[in-house]
Amino acid sequence: MPTKTTMPSRCPACAHGLVEVEAGIASWCPACRWNLDVYDPALAPWRGTRLVGRWGFRRGLEVDRATHEELLADPAASAAGTSRGEVWLMVFSVVLALIGVAALGYLAWLVVADGPPPGVRLVLAIPAVLVLLLVKPSFGRVPRYGAIAERDAPQLHRLVREVAAAAGTPVPDVICADLNINAGVARLGWRQRSVLVVGMPLWLMLPRPARVSLLAHELGHLANGDPLRVRRTLPARAFGARAVAATGGRNPWRRALHSANSLAEQGSGTVVLLGMLVQGALALVNVAGATAQLLVDSVAMPDSRRAEYRADLVARRVAGTGAFLQSAETVLLADRIWQDLWHQAPRLDSEQLESIAAEARRHLAPQLPLARQLSRRTTDLWSTHPSEDQRMRLIEALPGIGGMLHVDDSRWAAIDAELASWRRAAYHALLGTRDRF
Ligand SMILES: [Zn+2]
Ligand SMILES: [Zn+2]
Repeated sequence: MPTKTTMPSRCPACAHGLVEVEAGIASWCPACRWNLDVYDPALAPWRGTRLVGRWGFRRGLEVDRATHEELLADPAASAAGTSRGEVWLMVFSVVLALIGVAALGYLAWLVVADGPPPGVRLVLAIPAVLVLLLVKPSFGRVPRYGAIAERDAPQLHRLVREVAAAAGTPVPDVICADLNINAGVARLGWRQRSVLVVGMPLWLMLPRPARVSLLAHELGHLANGDPLRVRRTLPARAFGARAVAATGGRNPWRRALHSANSLAEQGSGTVVLLGMLVQGALALVNVAGATAQLLVDSVAMPDSRRAEYRADLVARRVAGTGAFLQSAETVLLADRIWQDLWHQAPRLDSEQLESIAAEARRHLAPQLPLARQLSRRTTDLWSTHPSEDQRMRLIEALPGIGGMLHVDDSRWAAIDAELASWRRAAYHALLGTRDRF
């Protein structure tokens, strides 16, 4: 069946040819970006309904625009104090903590009360236990595997120390590696130790100066106090998601319908009715949890966005404009580079990963402009990071600088040698993922 298209083939604004990625995706002008910033259900993250998705997409653009303006006006400003959104989340967190304390008190009362028989007390305890599960504090755990000790990698630790000094933050307590195409920083465990996690696949794909930028971005979060900020508001941030997970995750109504059907096939009248009531109640709690999470995230996201941009500003200052842009470009192409490595893995050995990745980066480079523009369509208010395009545009709008930290090749070679076992682990992950595609 021929599809009817009302889209022009040339840009109405500048007459440049339009990009058409695939059917169903609204085309746009790569030259003047006409029609680029439109909500595209095929590309935007799915948020339950189109209405919510579209709102989140537009709101994300607004938040980015406002944050850009604010940061460009004063890029050197230190992290702002507590925002209004954060105050709300802290108040909500305190309320949740109080509810938890009340549930504990109620449980204690049930234990000592001498009125109702034990069976009744047990039933009366259930709601309080459920409430406690939803509001209990969580401190996270320092990963048990992957920690890289200073004696095993003195040069890597030295580099992290230098980046921390340049970023103006204490040195992270633990440096970890894992096998994700990612990196992160957090405060974990009872002692809230700062943990830097570097995904080795991403590390291997990054050009060397871009690795400094990656480290500086992550340590920039520490310098700006972001993990502590998140920690303070965690009960509020986690509450909705916990309710959703506890009641079975996505698609609650479909699940309720499904189990009602299977109950109806086998059970008697009362059992079916009871089962349907329980399932209906679970679905309601699920929807309420998902809505609460959406609302909480809507309040939290402007701050999270600002935190990402601020960490990018630290990366620019420490590693320089060029290194930051290189790291952003590598992130944009990371999945494709990894796919390339995957194809070649059986013919390689682990020592060649970096050079083959560099080769892949070069020959995939022509795809960058489009991938970069497309990243705007795949990001909305609730995305954990602004789009790569937005992040790059902020840094490009500032004067280009060379960065404070330069690491010579002999030091890089030493760091590479220290990470040899991790390179092998990444290589094995690559071979292991061969059957996943
Ligand atoms: Zn145009
Ligand atoms: Zn970040």
